[in-house]
Parts: sequence; structure tokens; C-alpha cells
Amino acid sequence: MSRSVYLDYNATAPVRPEAASAVAAALAVAGNPSSVHAPGRAARRLLEEAREAVAALVCGRSQEVIFTSGGTEANNLALSAGDRRLLVSAGEHDSVLRAAPGATRLALRPDGVVDLAALRELLAAEGRPALVSVMQANNETGVIQPMAEIVALAREAGALVHCDAVQSAGKIALDMSALDLDLVSLSAHKLGGPQGVGALVLGPGRSIEPALKGGGQERGRRAGTENLPGAAGFGAAAAAALDALPMMAALAPIRDRLESEVLALSPGSRIFGREAPRLPNTSCFSTPGLSAETQVMALDLAGVAVSAGSACSSGKVQPSHVLGAMGAGPDEARSAIRVSLGWQTQEADIRHFLAAWRRLYEKSRATSPTAA
Ligand code: PLP
Repeated sequence: MSRSVYLDYNATAPVRPEAASAVAAALAVAGNPSSVHAPGRAARRLLEEAREAVAALVCGRSQEVIFTSGGTEANNLALSAGDRRLLVSAGEHDSVLRAAPGATRLALRPDGVVDLAALRELLAAEGRPALVSVMQANNETGVIQPMAEIVALAREAGALVHCDAVQSAGKIALDMSALDLDLVSLSAHKLGGPQGVGALVLGPGRSIEPALKGGGQERGRRAGTENLPGAAGFGAAAAAALDALPMMAALAPIRDRLESEVLALSPGSRIFGREAPRLPNTSCFSTPGLSAETQVMALDLAGVAVSAGSACSSGKVQPSHVLGAMGAGPDEARSAIRVSLGWQTQEADIRHFLAAWRRLYEKSRATSPTAA
């Protein structure tokens, strides 16, 4: 049986056909969006349509969308803002944690949700006004953060809020205007657009210090000729993902069945964040005595692609800081895999995953008595 099953949408989602067409159409336009002639104006039109679609995905204002090279750049740009005190959650992506090495870390509860009492205390501490950075949903566990409460606490203390919505955008709704968010990071390849393009969306009246200086592109906020094919693909993917939000929600019962079957087979497995609100597509679980590396390799041989912990960048399996912040020990974290579903996932894919996982689990039981 040579079925190939892709269950690693949180690493990168397969490109949606709408996005691929939009990239191809943009590549066929000769002009530079800054040129005043007809081809330039055609390019500008495509760029601004894409900007509107990206803004619509998060209920933001299109003139406040700054196209970037991806979520990493958007996060770096957001956190370089002025001389504010930085408070970041311990579960943030490395592109936040490493962009703000001196930031104060905000603890997570064992269910993966940020500790709001700790946030209140940190905000009340003496010092400069703060910038709080909390992701809408975690890339490893899918745990969703209480953004409305976070913004309310921040506002009481005169703080700004940056939300990394790279992983949540297109999976659950985000209304940055209603939430009154100051900065929102997005990435096209997580929602069916091309890799290497993303955006930072600013709330009304917010500004950033440009990291790239040169021409006046992106309203002087990011110099350099725009990545028109990337932006066009991003815009098309954003529009398609917005339309497909109900389909994403319908993945939750499929994911829940997958987890019930894993637990029925292996009662010692731990599903991270199961007690908290989660993205409908994400499952992260550890299994005693079964390393993540072994699982990822055995599943790969069975034609199933999943991730070990957060394998976004290196492909190397390291214990996850997110699971650590939720109280997982190193062995538990090293045995965690992430299964993430998406727009092309079918029930048959989950059955295939479960059959392959059952085989590897039973084999490990036969060879190691410590397996759950
Ligand atoms: N933020 C989160 C939550 C992510 O999951 C990722 C990628 O996995 C990023 C940021 C980085 O985005 P990009 O790959 O577009 O640089």
C-alpha cells in the first residue's frame, strides 16, 4: 500500500490551487508596482488586491498591512518597536524568543494557556510601558490563548500587544480590530500560500521602526521591490482560507477521534493542551518509551508525514521549550509528536495514520516493556 499522507500542516500547508494560480498570474505581469506606466499599474493593482485580502483575513486595515518575507521577519519587526519593556510568553516561537532575548518570560499553565495572574503582576511592575507578545495559538500544541483578556490587562497598564497569528490565521477567526490588537504577524505558507512571504499588520495609529532601509515601498516601512508573486499568492490563499474556516472547524471531531484511538491503544500517552481551547487541526502527544524520532521515521516509511515537537527550522529533534513550559519532563517532551491536519485531509488519511502508528506502537511494546 503506497498511500502518501501529509499531516504536517503546521510546518507548511500544501499550496492551494487558488494561490498557485495567483502566483502564476502575477509572474506574467511585467511591471514593478512602483512604476507609473500601465504594466506598473497592473502590478500595483495586484499587490493592493492582495493587501486587501490579507487585511480581510484578520479584520485589519489594508493600508496597515506590511508585506514581509514571512512570519519570522514579521515577528522580528514587531518586537524591535522602540524602548518598551518586552513581556513574551514562554510558549512563543523562536522567532519571537530570539528576537527579544532580554524579554521577561510569561509562564504557561500546565494546559498551555498563559498565566494571566502572572501577566497582571508583570504588567504592574515598575518600569517603562510594556509590549506584550502572545501568540493566538501555539504551533506545537494548538492551544489558543485568551487574547481578549490579555489585551484588557495590557490596556489597564498602558501596554501594547503583539499577537503572532502565524499558526492560527486561516484555522480560526481573528478580528484584530474587535480585539484591539496593536501588531499581528502572519505567514502565507501556513494557510496554503507560498513560502517566503508574510505580513505584519498594524493597528490604527501604530508605527514600527523599519528594519530594511532604502526605497519608500510599503509606505516607507519596508524598503525593497515587493515580492509581487508571493503577495498575490498570499492574498489568494488568505481569501480561500477565510472562506474555508467552517471546513477547518469540521476537522476538530476527526482530530478528537484520532486522539481517542491513540489513548485507547496507549492509555499512558499524554495529549498536550487537551483541557484547553485548541486549534481544530492540531494534536500533540507523547508516548512513554517511544521516542519522537523513532515515530517520525517509522511513520515516514509508512508514507505518513508528521513532526517531532517543533521541527520548523532545523529538522533536528530537540526537546520542545513549549512542552517544557507546560511541565513536561525531557523524556516526555522527546517522545512527543505533532499531527496537524488541513484543507486536503480526509478521514482515510487518519485511518492510515492510525494503522501505521498502531504497528509501530505494538512493535515497540513487544521490544520494550517500558512502553505504555
Ligand atoms: N510563528 C509561529 C507560531 C510559527 O509556527 C512559525 C513557523 O513555524 C513562525 C512564526 C515563522 O514563520 P515563517 O516560517 O513564515 O518564518
